[in-house]
Amino acid sequence: MFNKVLIANRGEIACRVAATCKRLGVGSVAVYSDADAGAKHVAVCDEALHVGGAAASESYLRIEKIIGAALATGAQAVHPGYGFLSENEDFARACEKAGLVFIGPPVEAISAMGSKAAAKALMQSASVPLVPGYHGDGQDPALLQQEADGMGYPVLLKASAGGGGKGMRVVEKSADFASALLSCKREAASSFGNDRVLIEKYLQRPRHVEVQVFADQHGNAVYLFDRDCSVQRRHQKVLEEAPAPGLSDEVRRAMGEAAVAAARAVNYVGAGTVEFIMTGDGQFYFMEMNTRLQVEHPVTEMVTGLDLVEWQLRVASGEPLPLSQDQLKVGGHAIEARIYAENPSRGFLPSTGTLKHLRLPEAVEFQLNGNVRIDSGVREGDTITPFYDPMIAKLIVHGRDRDDALLRMALALKQCEVVGPSTNIEFLHRIVVSAPFSAGDLDTGLIERHHDTLFAPSEVPKTPALALACAALLTREGGEAHGVSPWDALSHWRMSGGYTQALNWRLVGSDDEILAVFTRDSTSGRADNKQLELFGETLTFDWSHGDEPHAFVVLIGDKRIKGRVFVDGDVFHVFYAGASLAFEWQNLLAHAADAEHGEGRLTAPMPGKVIAVLVEAGAVVEKGAPLLVMEAMKMEHTIVAPAGGTVGEILFSVGDQVTDGAQLLVMEVQPAK
Ligand code: ADP
Ligand code: ADP
Ligand code: MG
Repeated sequence: MFNKVLIANRGEIACRVAATCKRLGVGSVAVYSDADAGAKHVAVCDEALHVGGAAASESYLRIEKIIGAALATGAQAVHPGYGFLSENEDFARACEKAGLVFIGPPVEAISAMGSKAAAKALMQSASVPLVPGYHGDGQDPALLQQEADGMGYPVLLKASAGGGGKGMRVVEKSADFASALLSCKREAASSFGNDRVLIEKYLQRPRHVEVQVFADQHGNAVYLFDRDCSVQRRHQKVLEEAPAPGLSDEVRRAMGEAAVAAARAVNYVGAGTVEFIMTGDGQFYFMEMNTRLQVEHPVTEMVTGLDLVEWQLRVASGEPLPLSQDQLKVGGHAIEARIYAENPSRGFLPSTGTLKHLRLPEAVEFQLNGNVRIDSGVREGDTITPFYDPMIAKLIVHGRDRDDALLRMALALKQCEVVGPSTNIEFLHRIVVSAPFSAGDLDTGLIERHHDTLFAPSEVPKTPALALACAALLTREGGEAHGVSPWDALSHWRMSGGYTQALNWRLVGSDDEILAVFTRDSTSGRADNKQLELFGETLTFDWSHGDEPHAFVVLIGDKRIKGRVFVDGDVFHVFYAGASLAFEWQNLLAHAADAEHGEGRLTAPMPGKVIAVLVEAGAVVEKGAPLLVMEAMKMEHTIVAPAGGTVGEILFSVGDQVTDGAQLLVMEVQPAK
């Protein structure tokens, strides 16, 4: 076994590899870019070397820099993870030349499988079944058109050097072929520096089923069973599971053996995945081989109880495979969900920003025998940058069977809390509990076909969520020293022995304004009596802190609700019953009136810049009239009149920088009529 391994990657996979190194007593070396100096993978490795700028091309893709780092630290081997240099034959060759072991297959195997077209030709000669199509050398547009016409539409155009779904174009009819070919070639050339294409018959409602294979340097090769990765968006995996549901023993064995045959055909060594596409009748066809560890490898680890990174290290250091085919068994069922910083309702656009609050279900990282596992490359306070894949974590569950795993996954997703970037957590939950996914009725069109249900607006009950937000607000405003009387920041009317306070909210992501009226009546002889009026209903109301940070227990009407509220400025993120809603407190009177004196203070809700002054001193304005616009963090924020009145002195002008809480202008509030 090696003494020290350099991990030429970042994020969760670098952390994942480091965990196995640690368990085996192997030293680990991280590399990092400017953007990752404080990243988790740097913290978990024994040593770390800076390799360049934030862009991958200036750091994680710099072959000489990474080889230099390995040599400088005395690492004997390099683990490339996935993505980046993992399938780069020049990198594998450079490692070899520098006397470093590349933890992956031989250069020839990477190169044989690197071109989908060449790989298919090879598989054909190894009698591995192929999707009907054209993968020849001839690339003349007229020839390609003729081939497509011959196989019948729809067809799928793929970049031969492709990956990550890039370049793929579905062509519905002959007339569309020429322009699809141009756009496929254009994307292929810019993404992979190679515009060779191949054509496949576009299969209807297929499944993506892949087989994990492993081979050693002594001629042994086994399959570690299958995974179903049919749930995809834009040809990218979203949920993966092992074993693939509904395969007969015969099909399972036939696929496993075909995958091993594929690996043997290229003298494969190490971990690899043979991807098949499967039709409804159980026919399967070779699609491509990924010559590296796959993102979804944990589901295989969970059902086999094996650490695949350990196997990689053992095989790379020359040991034989730890187990033979007949010693390998599947136990139970595992599902993985990829939690991304992205916006499903906006075409899965990546989202960036600081993870201000990050709470994942209780789990042990990389454990093989538990029920919930989280592989993550970020911690609370870390930032999802635009430079790399916006994955936050992989959530993996194991159950005794698929139904058990489904329940655990649904529950675990409901325990995830993220404040900062948008995420796909709710979307993942919807898929997991959807009828087709629950029934194991899987195919690659699942997300599109169930678009209406999966993307429907969320219907979280608002009363309990708002009650939690009100509890957090009343606690904050009542309990913190503001240098003023605790209740001054809230709109209130005093009565003897009690208060009535108006709490104005806006549902974040909408224009919906919601008014909650809190009453506290402690008139003589009666116990402290609190009520909350919401949506026209007056309910008894009380709250206390839960036993964890941000936790509240709220009594509203006859309900007792447990939830958590993460407060970010005036935005209250409520996590309740597995749902999350954010409400912004409309801090009206904090900016405004001390009504008794008929004079108002309007203060900046955040540090920023004044970008517009909309009124002049002396102007008479109505309640809600826009007075001044500020900008902070590229977001505009309009300061409105908290009540009708007359504008007094305006204390800043356009372009001025103001600090949080600074008074912006003075207002004479009209006494209520
Ligand atoms: P998997 O089957 O393991 O999910 P993917 O093809 O989805 O494999 O890609 C795995 C990782 O590699 C992802 O992080 C993806 O962004 C990255 N990746 C895949 N292909 C490329 C490529 N051609 N260039 C850069 N990154 C890629
Ligand atoms: P990549 O290198 O981008 O992973 P693949 O060839 O593995 O490309 O295909 C990615 C996905 O596209 C598959 O998982 C499957 O969902 C879909 N796909 C690929 N080939 C076909 C086909 N012939 N018919 C229908 N869908 C296909
Ligand atoms: Mg693929």
